[in-house]
Amino acid sequence: MNAPAPHAPTVRTTCPYCGVGCGVLAQPDGRGGVAIAGDPTHPANLGRLCSKGSALDETVGLAGRLLHPMLRRSDGALARASWTQALDHVADGLRTIIERDGPDAIAFYLSGQLLTEDYYVANKLMKGFIGSANVDTNSRLCMASSVAGHRRAFGADTVPGSYADLDLADLIVLVGSNAAWCHPVLFQRIMRNKARRGARVVVVDPRRTVTAQEADLFLGLAPGTDTALFCGLLVHLAERGALDAAYVEAHTCGFAEALAQARAIAPDAPTTARLCGVAQADIAEFFNLFYASARTVTAFSQGVNQSAQGTDKVNAIINCHLATGRIGRPGMGPFSLTGQPNAMGGREVGGLANQLAAHMGFAPDEIDRVRRFWNAPCIVQREGRKAVQMFEAIERGEIKALWVMATNPAVSLPRAAAMRAALGKLELFVVSENVISNDTVNAGAHVLLPAAAWGEKDGTVTNSERCISRQRAFLPLPGEARPDWWIVSAVAQRLGFTEAFSFKSEADVFREHAALSGFENEGTRDFDISGLATLSDHDYDALEPVQWPVRAGDGRRARPGEQRFFADGGFFTPDRKARFVPPQPPALQETTCAAFPFRLNTGRIRDQWHTMTRTGQSPRLAAHLAEPFVEVHPRDAAHMGLADDGFARVATAHGACILKVMVSDDQQPGSLFVPIHWSAETASCARVGDLVSPRTDPHSGQPEAKATPATLAPVDFALAGFTRTQAAVTLPPGTWWARVAVAEGVEYRLATSRGPLFWHDFAYHWLGPEARLAEQLDGPVYRAAAFVDGHLDGCLCLAPAAEAAPQWDLAGLAAAAEDGGRRISKAGACDYIAETEPVVCACFQVGLGAVRRAVTSGSATSVGDIGRTLRAGTNCGSCLPELKRIIVDERIAHPL
Ligand code: SF4
Repeated sequence: MNAPAPHAPTVRTTCPYCGVGCGVLAQPDGRGGVAIAGDPTHPANLGRLCSKGSALDETVGLAGRLLHPMLRRSDGALARASWTQALDHVADGLRTIIERDGPDAIAFYLSGQLLTEDYYVANKLMKGFIGSANVDTNSRLCMASSVAGHRRAFGADTVPGSYADLDLADLIVLVGSNAAWCHPVLFQRIMRNKARRGARVVVVDPRRTVTAQEADLFLGLAPGTDTALFCGLLVHLAERGALDAAYVEAHTCGFAEALAQARAIAPDAPTTARLCGVAQADIAEFFNLFYASARTVTAFSQGVNQSAQGTDKVNAIINCHLATGRIGRPGMGPFSLTGQPNAMGGREVGGLANQLAAHMGFAPDEIDRVRRFWNAPCIVQREGRKAVQMFEAIERGEIKALWVMATNPAVSLPRAAAMRAALGKLELFVVSENVISNDTVNAGAHVLLPAAAWGEKDGTVTNSERCISRQRAFLPLPGEARPDWWIVSAVAQRLGFTEAFSFKSEADVFREHAALSGFENEGTRDFDISGLATLSDHDYDALEPVQWPVRAGDGRRARPGEQRFFADGGFFTPDRKARFVPPQPPALQETTCAAFPFRLNTGRIRDQWHTMTRTGQSPRLAAHLAEPFVEVHPRDAAHMGLADDGFARVATAHGACILKVMVSDDQQPGSLFVPIHWSAETASCARVGDLVSPRTDPHSGQPEAKATPATLAPVDFALAGFTRTQAAVTLPPGTWWARVAVAEGVEYRLATSRGPLFWHDFAYHWLGPEARLAEQLDGPVYRAAAFVDGHLDGCLCLAPAAEAAPQWDLAGLAAAAEDGGRRISKAGACDYIAETEPVVCACFQVGLGAVRRAVTSGSATSVGDIGRTLRAGTNCGSCLPELKRIIVDERIAHPL
């Protein structure tokens, strides 16, 4: 962490990662660095940060940044260009294609990493002025099923409750949510409720995640059966007389049909248990808990959304809350936990292809209203193509120009390899980015536009509880980087829309966005922040976190937790009643078969974010799970001949990856889990998007990222080890590698089928020319270390892959080098040995071995003891579930 400059002002901003939306205090050091702390006044986190937020200081450097506009030359190389050249090129290209092929030949692909102001301007240009709704966002891969479920039930994309409900609930049901890793600060809030008030926690997930380890009841249901579970629950509640008949009668319609469908799917607890593959006693306990707990929050996330039946799953959950009237009151309600920092902001502006703007859709009166507000010449008349369909249209050559902003679809889309190939067909491929190299840029982008990054840009984001917070700049814009809203406005002006895109600042954009939300809104639309439409620039700068709605004429602005929706009905349907939605019976679209007998599940790990362009720079975060892996049940591992810590090829009908094997009975037999984070920038063959099915939910368009039929097989490498050097290196073809952030230089974990002599040649040419190279060959164990001016400059260490890695003590090489007049610090070598151990506590860099030793020696018998002796778990708390697990595991392995 950088020491702050003595008088550097502290800037209050918001974390750029998950949808919890934690407040951050950033104190720049005046030299490009920053000290980070949680903002104790922010209602989302009250000063807490998870491991990712705590490591933000390690991610603000300029290494790898795109600092100038670039244009691809005819020889294929990228060359620096002026902003004028780049913007003219983009505008001319768009104009040519629109005139020749029509506006639907253009597409924008946006991101939940954009600020609301950026999103608003891009959506306005496309839907109001270019005249196409081909604007979609990576939120389609994340939250689209929640959006569709909300709109079907509530008539609007409304999250009814607040985080405060997680403090007040007596029962919290987490469905398809590894909140301990993916929403860590919120999860710790749930744990405090459990500890202080005795709230019960139920986790519903095919995987026994670290979240599940903390639950009072874990339902490890079969993949894709959530709908059956909540249909069975609805039937149970009806039969036990737990319904709120008055609420159902006054504020809803469609209950009888929904209950009939629920009965048809899961008529009783035994059937529910059978369909879900869960013990009948556990189903009965869950039903009893739900029945008995009026204050119940059902929180759900990607495990529900990322499904070809995701919308039905969302509605099956909402049905239970509507039927019991448990919605919009303290401590109760369905609660969608958003994945990204501004997925909600994107939904507010209309960043999805099936939304128009400000939570309005494509009804004629809504189209006309937005047209008049924008004075739009080409207002779009119908929905556009959702993400997967958009890229398939690129594949077919129907979309000819694509502008990608702040996201990496070449990694994250389903069937990503085919999508990368499709990008090569584009006539105009524009990327607004922070980094000069990623898989999307390297898929042949014609124009790179340098966008401002977190810490450099200003604007707003909305978190999962509808709380709008400011992201504030605390670093200067580097090079020629510009905010995304500025870039889009500059192109719009070149297309002739000068007046509509004459924004002077983020505040200017925000005021217009807020005004649109209240335009002809007589309480008929949920999203209304018209009370913020006249903020002065100063007030915008000073804006405190505020939860919508914020209507013009409202008096005091509500703090998050004070406003809920639907306790007294008032839904946003024509008759103001909610809709029960009868879901379809649960059925996974693709069946497993002899060729692909497993189900591939994908998701996040604790200390990385998306494709690692930011978190991948942090040595602290890299130390937790450094290599891409596939988690496999022990029975499957034995059956397929896989060894823990070995390698496996995981394949589907769409592609293949080669990954480290992690054998774990947290995984169900027949299911595999692979994290989403690695790309061609960080690993040789670990883009899980290449493997994922493109099947989508018929309502939300969200792809099925949790249940692709897959197979796996062992991969044998002769040697494994690592290399560390000062700069990135191109490793020989056929080498398995994963790049790991380290404090200085670059490290690659390696596996190879080539022998030591090959690596001797490689090391000589790569490490050797300007350095003194010392080598040691000890049977199949090969070590090489390079010294420049007496300092260790790089090293390469390989040993038989099937054996435990030796202690890579480089001191022997130091002595060899010393003979030649060179030196190595033995301390440096030993430091490295310590770092290779997996780190459990990212904040204090406490390794797995240290925790195990503390437990087995008897000096620590609880997480409190570990905190006192090692400090682990005493800062952000993200590692607390893992610490508890280590204690249990060690007690089993070493009983007293
Ligand atoms: S929980 Fe962590 S990643 Fe999410 S917003 Fe808070 S600090 Fe950032």
